[in-house]
Amino acid sequence: MHVYRVGLRTRFRGLTARDGVLLEGEAGWGEFSPFWDYQDAESLAWWRAAREAADVGWPAAVRDRVPVNVTVPAVDGVTARAVVGRSAGCRTAKVKVAEPGQGVDDEVERLEAVREALGPGGRIRIDANGAWDVETAVARLQVLDRAAGGLEYVEQPCASVEDLATVRRQTSVPVAADESIRRAEDPLAVVRAEAADVVVLKVQPLGGVRACLELAEQVGLPVVVSSALESSVGLAAGLALAAALPDLPYACGLATAQLLTHDVVAEPLLPVDGAITVRRPVPSPGMLVEHAADPDLAARWRARAASVSALEER
Ligand SMILES: [Mg+2]
Repeated sequence: MHVYRVGLRTRFRGLTARDGVLLEGEAGWGEFSPFWDYQDAESLAWWRAAREAADVGWPAAVRDRVPVNVTVPAVDGVTARAVVGRSAGCRTAKVKVAEPGQGVDDEVERLEAVREALGPGGRIRIDANGAWDVETAVARLQVLDRAAGGLEYVEQPCASVEDLATVRRQTSVPVAADESIRRAEDPLAVVRAEAADVVVLKVQPLGGVRACLELAEQVGLPVVVSSALESSVGLAAGLALAAALPDLPYACGLATAQLLTHDVVAEPLLPVDGAITVRRPVPSPGMLVEHAADPDLAARWRARAASVSALEER
């Protein structure tokens, strides 16, 4: 069991670094890296995903390249254009909106800049992380759809499934569910309420590649695979899911190795021409040493892994 810690290029979820456990089993390497605000019970799915990777491996791929999106944080227009410009040919952008302290003008400026950088053939989606109420979402979507020259979809405009369903009925912009799937007691509530056109699946919080494939089948909606901001060891599991899905109509949110200052593999899972080649990189012994967490953090992760894995045995 190795514990890594690497920097983030921009602040994300209030974090400036990413850390987690890497474990090696008969089938390869797995990553266990729930964010620190996740309790043990919620982290159990993350543990199962890591064990699946290490002990069993993943189902066969049906494609060898996975198109990915560039993520544009809540930045100004000039910065947004630069982010798209250095995205290694991504033709889809996911733009963050509903940032505290910002208003509709900031979002319009950002979306116009992204459209200009992508050109008319690019796709633009936005993510509100559940921050809007129904009225704000419906009004805002009309403005932002125009500013973007057409939105591919809006991810989690409101927090509750009921509000998602209401927004979906009142706007022409397709709705994607993310938090409503990944942090819900019952991920299928979204389907019953007809609250989404697309679902976002993340391997670690949903308990592994097989668990996600089963969920995708039950949901019966198009899937976008996204990362939980892992190292390339964890990203490989997301890539395996995206590679194994029968249909993959949208670009995936797996280009997040770009957001890390370092990685634990010699050749990180980065996009070329807007897509990541499906493969499973192995950590480099030198980089595991170089990016090892300090002893105190490593001890905290070992204790966390022990208490979460003990839940499994109960
Ligand atoms: Mg999201």
